Amino acid sequence: MKEFDLIKHFFTKQPVKHKEVVLGIGDDCAVIAPIENQNIVVTTDTLVAGVHFPLDTSPRAIGHKSVAVNLSDIAAMGAAPSWISLALTLPEVDEIWLKEFCAGVFDLCEFYNVELIGGDTTQGPLSITITAQGVTPKDSYLTRSGASKGDWLYVTGELGDAALALQHIFGNVEVESNNFTTIKNKLDFPKPRVLAGQIIREYASSAIDLSDGLVADLGHICQASNVGANIALDALPLSVILRDSLLIEDAMNLALSGGDDYELLFTVSEDNKIGLETALSHAGISVTCIGQTNASQTISTTLNNKSVTIKTTGFEHFA
Ligand code: ADP
Ligand code: MG
Repeated sequence: MKEFDLIKHFFTKQPVKHKEVVLGIGDDCAVIAPIENQNIVVTTDTLVAGVHFPLDTSPRAIGHKSVAVNLSDIAAMGAAPSWISLALTLPEVDEIWLKEFCAGVFDLCEFYNVELIGGDTTQGPLSITITAQGVTPKDSYLTRSGASKGDWLYVTGELGDAALALQHIFGNVEVESNNFTTIKNKLDFPKPRVLAGQIIREYASSAIDLSDGLVADLGHICQASNVGANIALDALPLSVILRDSLLIEDAMNLALSGGDDYELLFTVSEDNKIGLETALSHAGISVTCIGQTNASQTISTTLNNKSVTIKTTGFEHFA
């Protein structure tokens, strides 16, 4: 199958159509009509085989994850995802692989009402670049730079499971086989926090999605907002699997420095705290308050209110 047949066969039949997409796949560009009283947010993420996912990752997972990491960035802005373009570099045309990859892409797109509006297809080492766009009400979006000292620090979901799966794959830790299936699924099929992002938009002062690890990504908020922060280690949301698989210090360390969580980290002022918690609980979204920002320029940690030092280069324990 040649390039144009491949595009037609795999990428032009899709479930979602937006009225704002005046022209989709098939021309030199897609055309989008401007939307009154809204902003458009734009992001791009690339996944390279062997760097962003293990070489033996299933094509369905690769398709899912390529879209998910982009929707996670859209969620961190408090936006609703709308459409994506897909630049795909393939070593060869493997139709079974492509069918599965497309299932991963389109299942997630359909779930979040996202339309594929264009892309590029080339030959080379496997790599996937997606550009995603989303919309927010005009001038209402979240940034990394809005935190003030004294704001509360929250995360969605649980931290460290995807990193635990990766450490098991690398042969550094033992994980019981049923548990591995569960956390491997979290590594391969992350769920972008699209709904949570739009809910917290009304309450949060800043937000970021957790792709590189809690401490690293909190560092981005602190730097952009010119604040410091303290993390209460005893408050970290650790899954039962993580607690059961590692010593507690190692579990905390993975939650602090392991990547690939794709949860949201955000700050909220004292005044907005109750409103935020109520709105999220009505939506059935679990969040945990893990600390507070402060006037220092550093990130500190406490355990049962006592200051402790941590190594944020988390994988030393397993090296
Ligand atoms: P051009 O040469 O003008 O860049 P192409 O021949 O590469 O256009 O692509 C033809 C059409 O197919 C374009 O509309 C492009 O956006 C779309 N397309 C190409 N590859 C993909 C892909 N992987 N996913 C979605 N659309 C694609
Ligand atoms: Mg092209």
